[in-house]
Amino acid sequence: AQDKRESLYVLSQWAGKFFKQHLWETDSGKAIALSYFKERGYRDDIIKKFDLGYSPDQWTALVDAAKKDGFQESYLSDIGLAIERDDKSLYDRFRGRVIFPIHNLTGRIIGFGGRTLKTEKSTPKYVNSPESEIYHKSDVLYGLNHAKKAVMDADLCYLVEGYADVIAMHQAGVENVVSSSGTSLTTGQIKLISRFTKNVVILYDGDAAGIKASLRGTDMLLEEGLNVKVLLFPDGNDPDSYIKQVGSSAFIAYIAAHQEDFIFYKTNILLKDAKDDPIKRAEVIRDVVESIALIPDEIKVSVFIRQCSSLLDIEERVLLTELNKIRINKAKAQ
Ligand code: ATP
Ligand code: MN
Ligand code: MN
Ligand code: MN
Repeated sequence: AQDKRESLYVLSQWAGKFFKQHLWETDSGKAIALSYFKERGYRDDIIKKFDLGYSPDQWTALVDAAKKDGFQESYLSDIGLAIERDDKSLYDRFRGRVIFPIHNLTGRIIGFGGRTLKTEKSTPKYVNSPESEIYHKSDVLYGLNHAKKAVMDADLCYLVEGYADVIAMHQAGVENVVSSSGTSLTTGQIKLISRFTKNVVILYDGDAAGIKASLRGTDMLLEEGLNVKVLLFPDGNDPDSYIKQVGSSAFIAYIAAHQEDFIFYKTNILLKDAKDDPIKRAEVIRDVVESIALIPDEIKVSVFIRQCSSLLDIEERVLLTELNKIRINKAKAQ
């Protein structure tokens, strides 16, 4: 089994090289894919640093090359580089897509994300490698191999939604950034972050999906004992598009100035919906206290209860009663 895993790593590494060669050394790669990355504003050194590539728009380009180089066919479908037809023949999964290899902590390639170059909505924007013996999505963070030192130095990790966001922030000089690309945030991913820092800033897309994911992500991070701040970008932007809009230095200034502690962030979002409706305001209070109740550290809990009290203009005593009720219910449920 160890031999097989090693072969799968070798095959992934080989595929990464295949995709890179097609990006840099073929006419179609240069004309279609390299020009796409340039249009997005990515510099050559960044394209190389992240091992970006291109999968040619043919049914079996990778399958044929892998066979020719002696790789066992079943391994291609085991790690999802190829898909098996009913008649057992194989075809390439990532046809005609630009490729974002996914690395583990030691820098070995374990999977791929492929982005379409088409604009029509019927094509899925991203296709990702499936789970495999070497790729366990819930325990992987995109970009962590490049970020870990910067995360430790800054004692802070930025969490973004996409591959492109990680890459654009690196190019802007912010290297302590990772993404849970392709999955929603998992406990395993949070445990991975907490090996390097206890401080996380969520920089998700400024749209409805991003807001929703940020609230869910916040609760999970709090539960694991991490400190959470949140910042969403205006007008539906994500970090990548915002950097493109305002430039690197304005981006860096913006994220320094607009991070909010989770409690302000969550309260403000919920209050916006509740307006002056007293019943809805009561729900907001309960909802925010529910998040506070997840925090394992009692000192932090009391600090947040105090903040929440002044923010919502409600007595601490009332909030503590609510907190205890939530805890008792939780204890009963267990
Ligand atoms: P881009 O800037 O290239 O348009 P993005 O990263 O901003 O991409 P989003 O639509 O914000 O794309 O999605 C965030 C992340 O979710 C993507 O980077 C990708 O990892 C994942 N994702 C998006 N669409 C899909 C999909 N159809 N299938 C699987 N994963 C997807
Ligand atoms: Mn989005
Ligand atoms: Mn996005
Ligand atoms: Mn984007």
